[in-house]
Amino acid sequence: MKQKRKISEIIVVGAGAAGMTAAIFAARAGADVLVLEHMETAGKKILATGNGKCNYTNSRQGVENYYGDDPAFVLQIMERFSFTDTLSFFEEIGIYPREKDGYYYPASGQASSVREVLLTELGRLDVKIIYNCAIRSIEKQNDLFCLETKSGNFYSKACLMATGGCAAKKTGSDGSGFLYLKKMGHHVIPVVPALVQLQGKGAFFKEIAGIRAEAMIKLYIDDHPILAERGELQLTDFGISGIPVFQLSRFAARALNESKKVYVQIDFSPELAKEELRELLIRRYNREGISANQALVGMYNRKLIPLFLRLADIEETVEAAKVSRKQLSRLVKVIREFHVDITGTKKFDAAQTTAGGVDTTEINNATLESRLVSGLYFAGEMIDIDGRCGGYNLQWAWSSGCVAGRSAAEKIREKI
Ligand SMILES: Cc1cc2nc3c(=O)[nH]c(=O)nc-3n(C[C@H](O)[C@H](O)[C@H](O)COP(=O)(O)OP(=O)(O)OC[C@H]3O[C@@H](n4cnc5c(N)ncnc54)[C@H](O)[C@@H]3O)c2cc1C
Repeated sequence: MKQKRKISEIIVVGAGAAGMTAAIFAARAGADVLVLEHMETAGKKILATGNGKCNYTNSRQGVENYYGDDPAFVLQIMERFSFTDTLSFFEEIGIYPREKDGYYYPASGQASSVREVLLTELGRLDVKIIYNCAIRSIEKQNDLFCLETKSGNFYSKACLMATGGCAAKKTGSDGSGFLYLKKMGHHVIPVVPALVQLQGKGAFFKEIAGIRAEAMIKLYIDDHPILAERGELQLTDFGISGIPVFQLSRFAARALNESKKVYVQIDFSPELAKEELRELLIRRYNREGISANQALVGMYNRKLIPLFLRLADIEETVEAAKVSRKQLSRLVKVIREFHVDITGTKKFDAAQTTAGGVDTTEINNATLESRLVSGLYFAGEMIDIDGRCGGYNLQWAWSSGCVAGRSAAEKIREKI
């Protein structure tokens, strides 16, 4: 006897931050929702966020914190599910917030609490998640989506894609979601790693690896200044890391992908105005009885001093007072405009997010429904939107998840 096929109203593909949020809001709006996840568990990436503490949002919101071919795409979505909506939603499901300089974390100090409360809410709403469910294809057949999997075919009236990008593949986001969408006619803006370390050219990196220093880092692409970020720079044996580097990385990655020339200039004295550093060095190098090396001790990390002097062509052991004004000008330039050619980025495995993704011109910016395939919705990192480091990527996952989930449920209700 032929088995009757089960049709869900909405199938959400991917049980990450965006997919779980979408499923919650669709179910709250009355839809019958099924979630398909190819990993053995949900929300693996959430566990790694904020160094295990989950920086789930930031009070400083605004379009300037989001990137993509059209950053303004986020505006309506953020209006419909804002920063304050995020705080209320998480408080309601159990997350008591702890704030530091505008950055929000769960008071438990555990990213696992965020995953747990989302799963608890899904359970409360009777939303079923099928794990280890590898999808072979997604097709629209007449008015229904057919998702072919190892465990059989699943059918739905609406399909909500929340499969993430390509960052941190071990958490489940392997880019497979893009393949189904391309087959359905969608265009994917080429993906590159973002919020990632940059590889630099220079044998000196081995000598200065491990240093952390406050710095201003300016990114240049084809000799044009693009962005400057200040914060704690980390020097490694392959190049540069730390939050200010992460913030620049998506631009560097995109430019390298397009074979453009990429370099950074590091200012190791960002707190001093232009002339102040020169005057300070002139005073320090006037002291009798100390070497050129000793004149810099207390200002810069011990390991940086020989490198600075070498690049400025000053002998370390020479008497400080014998260093000429011309040499000091060179030293100021080395400290202020420390040049590093960027040769690459670390790969997706080391990245926190993905720049690129489903082209936003093909998505309705109020509902997140596809403009090409009726009933197909998107949420999260798989859309061509990436946020700055600081809670913005999760904010995008919550906001887009909520809007896509609610819109899909509304569409189903309209049809009934
Ligand atoms: C180490 C690290 C730290 C981070 N820290 C922060 C932070 O503190 N604050 C912040 O805002 N952001 C942070 N981020 C970024 C943030 O976690 C992500 O942008 C966000 O989780 C993306 O959510 P998503 O649901 O769109 O995608 P994902 O979380 O990647 O979820 C996608 C889900 O879809 C599943 N999936 C994929 N393909 C398929 C398929 N074919 N079939 C079925 N299921 C599939 C995956 O297994 C996964 O469960 C961090 C990221 C990393 C890697």
